[in-house]
Amino acid sequence: MARTGNLFVISGPSGAGKGTLVRRLLADVPDAWVSVSATTRAPRPGETDGKEYFFLTRDEFERRIAEDGFLEWAEYDGNLYGTPLASIREHMDAGEQVILEIEVQGADQVRERMPACKLVFIEPPSLEVLEARLRGRGTNSESSIASRMRTAEVELSRKVGYDLVLVNDDLDVAAAELAAYVDRMAEKDRGRRA
Ligand code: 5GP
Repeated sequence: MARTGNLFVISGPSGAGKGTLVRRLLADVPDAWVSVSATTRAPRPGETDGKEYFFLTRDEFERRIAEDGFLEWAEYDGNLYGTPLASIREHMDAGEQVILEIEVQGADQVRERMPACKLVFIEPPSLEVLEARLRGRGTNSESSIASRMRTAEVELSRKVGYDLVLVNDDLDVAAAELAAYVDRMAEKDRGRRA
């Protein structure tokens, strides 16, 4: 029997390893689907429109806010980021495990609008490791790293209330725990709705 669709919100500070863990999750869980967000941030080298993000102008992003086109949206590090609503509905209706990789203000909005969602917080082992990871990416300016580190301290205080908190120290362990959690929740929901 097919599993029922669930919504998983993967949140936590930039640099905690959300993106890497989500990529691992897609490889480990066959019915997982990750939402592609919209952003006003400029593409980084190697990023393609429609793949990592839909890259929009601020005007276009604001037009979509006005049309209620986003499940959630937030301003982060001077740019707007949002989850397109239509595709989320489509993939949940298809019975897939829908994954959002978003920052904490957006996670709060999803919790309000879709209380059945499962919230997962990805925590770095320490602030020092977080800063080293952000710098190691080589894609953020020093001012962006400083802004992300300031935001991270606030974000870390928000993990209370999440359904699962994963410390991303050993990537293999964290990836296995995340996949096991998604599987467990999908099976549990199937039992309840059967
Ligand atoms: P980056 O600029 O490094 O790609 O992303 C910055 C932050 O925005 C990350 O924490 C990322 O998870 C978050 N983010 C990406 N897409 C969305 C979205 O659709 N909504 C919200 N609220 N945050 C997002």
